[in-house]
Amino acid sequence: MLDNTRIVLVNTSHPGNIGAAARAMKNMGLSRLYLVEPQDHPSYEAYSRAAGADDVLADAVVTNSLTDALTGCVWVAATSARERAVQWPIYQPRQCAKVCLEQSWLGDVAIVFGRERTGLTNEELEACNGLVHIPTNPEYNSLNVAAAVQVLCYEIRMAALSRTQVDGAKVKIPREDLPATTEQLDGMYRHLYQTMEDIHFFGKTNPEVIMRRLKSLFNRAQTTRREVAILRGIFSAAQGKKSGHSQQS
Ligand code: SAH
Repeated sequence: MLDNTRIVLVNTSHPGNIGAAARAMKNMGLSRLYLVEPQDHPSYEAYSRAAGADDVLADAVVTNSLTDALTGCVWVAATSARERAVQWPIYQPRQCAKVCLEQSWLGDVAIVFGRERTGLTNEELEACNGLVHIPTNPEYNSLNVAAAVQVLCYEIRMAALSRTQVDGAKVKIPREDLPATTEQLDGMYRHLYQTMEDIHFFGKTNPEVIMRRLKSLFNRAQTTRREVAILRGIFSAAQGKKSGHSQQS
């Protein structure tokens, strides 16, 4: 994934920001920097701010247009300091990194960063599949462009690391400790609902609201198959039946 991710800087005016972006990328294991019409490149200042990420700078691909920088990409996200019109799906950096991870199996993905003063034009945004906004203080929302690169590269690295763990899990973790399937969760929810009725839990409360909240809790927890079995055992006991492992509907 790290090798399939391009970081694209559009029309950057300060070479120091290009260097700082290269450093941010290399720290997180990314190397594919694209510079669309940089105003001052290559420069001593960029190399000085890159602090050893010279290879990323030296290998940077310089293009005359954003279209050229995005050639061959299967998914592109544009970053914006402002939450713009909802023409594009808006992602937080973590969600964006997750999509990058999924798409990077199919080809290159790119994250595009705008000019220091004016960001990206609407036309440039149109070349992108989604918009990423780092949820900053609304009264002071604009990060330095290299700082924004750092945040996104960090999330991409975290997504890539979690992927390795998931792959490892598939090999080593017992089946029962894998996340429960939707069907298993649905069966558990039906059982939970029935149990709550049996023990007269709902009273005047709205069962639908309670169930929605509980489902959200179990989804957040990524409940495992083993945990579903334990919970269903508890529900059966509460219903006055024998351990419920046998009645998995
Ligand atoms: N006044 C400009 C600010 C540009 S900041 C504007 O409103 O767009 C330069 C670049 O840094 C932005 O184009 C974007 O790529 C990135 N950036 C700065 N703050 C950001 C934020 N909160 N979320 C996402 N990207 C941000």
